[in-house]
Amino acid sequence: MVASKGELERERDLEQELERELEQEREQELELERERELEQELEQEREQELELERERERERELEQEREREQELEREREREGELEREREREQGWRRMRFTDRTRIETDWTCPRQRFWNFEYGGRGIVSVEEDFNLTFGKVIHEGLAHLHHGNWTEAFGVCDELTDPQWNAIAEGMLRGYVRCYPVFPVHPHIEKELTHLLTPSLTYMAKLDLLYQKEDGAWWYREFKTTSYQDGKWLSSWSRQPQPHVNALIAEKVLGIEIEGIEVQGLYKGRKGWGEDTRQGSIFAYGWKSLHVVGPPTYSYEPQRGKGWEKFAVWEEPGGAEKWVREMPEQILLEQFPTAPPIFLDRELAESFLEQARWREAEILRYDQQDLSKTFPQHFSECEPAFGAACPYRACCFQPWVRQAPLDSGLYIVRTPHHDTEEVG
Ligand code: SF4
Repeated sequence: MVASKGELERERDLEQELERELEQEREQELELERERELEQELEQEREQELELERERERERELEQEREREQELEREREREGELEREREREQGWRRMRFTDRTRIETDWTCPRQRFWNFEYGGRGIVSVEEDFNLTFGKVIHEGLAHLHHGNWTEAFGVCDELTDPQWNAIAEGMLRGYVRCYPVFPVHPHIEKELTHLLTPSLTYMAKLDLLYQKEDGAWWYREFKTTSYQDGKWLSSWSRQPQPHVNALIAEKVLGIEIEGIEVQGLYKGRKGWGEDTRQGSIFAYGWKSLHVVGPPTYSYEPQRGKGWEKFAVWEEPGGAEKWVREMPEQILLEQFPTAPPIFLDRELAESFLEQARWREAEILRYDQQDLSKTFPQHFSECEPAFGAACPYRACCFQPWVRQAPLDSGLYIVRTPHHDTEEVG
């Protein structure tokens, strides 16, 4: 049956109606999609906002933590000051400690002594340790192991020096020392701490480098000094230096022995080069070699400037420090260990040193915050001397904000005692 024209038009209208409805549905879906996207964006923004808020919260907590630590530090400083106050009230009744470093620092600059040993009750040190001190400590530790027969440990301590140049110098020194001098398998009096009462409440702490008996039974005291000098002036300077005399005298008093004499044993570390070659001038770290087309190089322990010669790093050659020192000519090796002529113990000098220490420590004990300039005057000539290292307390002396709270500055930390006695006492 053929549809009438009117029916066909109705069908078309229906189709168009359906088309419009479908179009509306699509638009609604698109609208819904856009809304969902908007919501997601809003959600992301909310999360970012929350993350920022959390970040701010963490920063606030860190800030509070820092403030609490600073407050605790101030509290400790106040307690230290109260402690000093109590000490002053009690006069001589509480035990105090002194040693060579404190006294010699006081000679250099009394204000340096104040920062280093008195500030806050214990003193402060720079966060950056003086490299010369670190090197000296490694050598003393290595020598102590050698004199106890622990060779592996002795050479192992050199690894505390991460700079290969200094590591090689330290190992060369220790290996060279073993070649040059008799090393006793076991010796009890190496790096030995002794204490001696200067007054009923003042203890002098001494650390003996090496106390030993020669074959004839006589006691000798040996001090070790890492040095950049090896000339006669350096060698003769030791006869009037108080440290070896005082250490030997304290050993006599505490151990009840008689010291025959003192030896000062230098361990030469060379000097830093200048100009283009700033390497340390130590034969334990650098030598000279000449390469050949065939066969091994020719080595020299003395400077060579001829054609084909070049300076080389010992630690980079086969055999390293062990081979280099083993094959070192004896004369050159001995030059690395300048030894002062034997010194007779000057008991009068040592007693005089200790007597002066008694008076000075009594003066420091009476120190009152008001008289810093009187008790600890500043020796400005030592702040940045023409030779040697600059004073590590320049920031304390010359920057008011550091002076007010050195420990808050991040430049200083509380001093750790080097003598066990002080830590215990
Ligand atoms: S900076 Fe100068 S005055 Fe201050 S402690 Fe050091 S040497 Fe003394």
